[in-house]
Amino acid sequence: FKSREDMAITIVGHVDHGKSTIIGRLMADTNSLPEGKLEQVKENCKRNSKPFEYAFLLDALKDEQAQGITIDAARCFFKTDIRDYIILDSPGHIEFLKNMVTGASRAEAALLVIDAKEGVQENSTRHGYLLSMLGINQISVIVNKMDLVNYDEKIFNNIIEEYSGFLEKIDVKPTSFIPVSGLKGDNVANKSENMPWYKGKTVLQQLDEFENAKPLTEAPFRMPVQGVYKFTNKGDSRRIIAGTIESGKVSVGDEIVFYPSGKQTKVKSIEAFNADKPKSQSAGYACGFTMTDQIYITRGEIAVRFDELKPQVSSRMRTNIFWLGKEPLTLGKRYLLKIGTAKIGMQVEKIERVMNASNLNNEEKTEVERNEVAECILTLDKVIAFDLAKNLASTSRFVIVDNYEIAGGGIIGETLEDRQEWV
Ligand code: GDP
Repeated sequence: FKSREDMAITIVGHVDHGKSTIIGRLMADTNSLPEGKLEQVKENCKRNSKPFEYAFLLDALKDEQAQGITIDAARCFFKTDIRDYIILDSPGHIEFLKNMVTGASRAEAALLVIDAKEGVQENSTRHGYLLSMLGINQISVIVNKMDLVNYDEKIFNNIIEEYSGFLEKIDVKPTSFIPVSGLKGDNVANKSENMPWYKGKTVLQQLDEFENAKPLTEAPFRMPVQGVYKFTNKGDSRRIIAGTIESGKVSVGDEIVFYPSGKQTKVKSIEAFNADKPKSQSAGYACGFTMTDQIYITRGEIAVRFDELKPQVSSRMRTNIFWLGKEPLTLGKRYLLKIGTAKIGMQVEKIERVMNASNLNNEEKTEVERNEVAECILTLDKVIAFDLAKNLASTSRFVIVDNYEIAGGGIIGETLEDRQEWV
């Protein structure tokens, strides 16, 4: 028995290339719409003597959400045999970017829509960029409106060639290219009879083949150290290392290494609030453990299991930041970076790219304004331990504090060498 899964996805592409139509199709063809909704929308169209569009289904659901009729705001769903899909608001929206960068919600896969007749547009390339910046690496490129180009295989192949060339440059490998017609329903939920030359998957088959992220409990063990407490009981003094487990699992007897110090010991006992002297404790829980050695550890270090993936240790890194501050993020200015339980002085060494949420323009700038996403190199006052977003999102996530207020959030994409003059 396998329980049903959820998967959050996003759908991106140039305006009018057919995103809403494809979503409408997915909902209708999987029978995921609320009872009577399809008929109601069709009836409405008839009454107003306009042709029915699948895109209207999405509008109708959004209206309901706006009126508070359906419970889940700004989300829509469709079901397949194995999963419930949640479609997150698309990257043109500030909330989506903010949630993705700060980790409030994550799309695990993306559909990137390109109009077969219009071909690759500037926005198609920006969206590719954005997905790669956000670390979404399960991407299917949907070549839509194939009905408008006579279901021509050559046109489909030309788009693959042109777009793959671009994606390669930014290190993105799409999982698939699928020729569809959202309007007619070709290759969305049902295999098309109009494109016998296409032997690949439908959009729905592709979605079901995307992989869910592994549960955090199966990831490497990470516990940012919140505090170290000393207990003395009948002359026996011991230190308890306390924190909340971000990922993975720790058990009595495990070899533990603390980073960035690199100090090593073994777990002697575990203290927890939810159980009496448990043998192990896992992600999401507060935990305290005693050690077999009396080593000196401070708040801000990360406890890691010796036999698992090592964290990164550096004072310099390439990051993607979503900026919320009233004042722009400025080169060279002093800020405080908080990651896990560590707090550390920092500054921005370089702003490599800035994307504006509304136009997704890609510009070189010396400042990052509120609601912009930027790729920045940070230099910290001291080395810290962290993970890369592609390995372990939870310990790659940080916030930037400006003048006692959280002014931005981000994830670490790449470790860079410490600056020579600081080593
Ligand atoms: P969005 O802005 O990306 O959400 O695009 P929409 O889904 O609203 O579609 C824009 C227009 O393209 C609408 O008039 C749709 O009817 C039309 N459209 C969408 N998909 C197809 C398709 O596969 N074939 C044709 N011929 N028109 C389509």
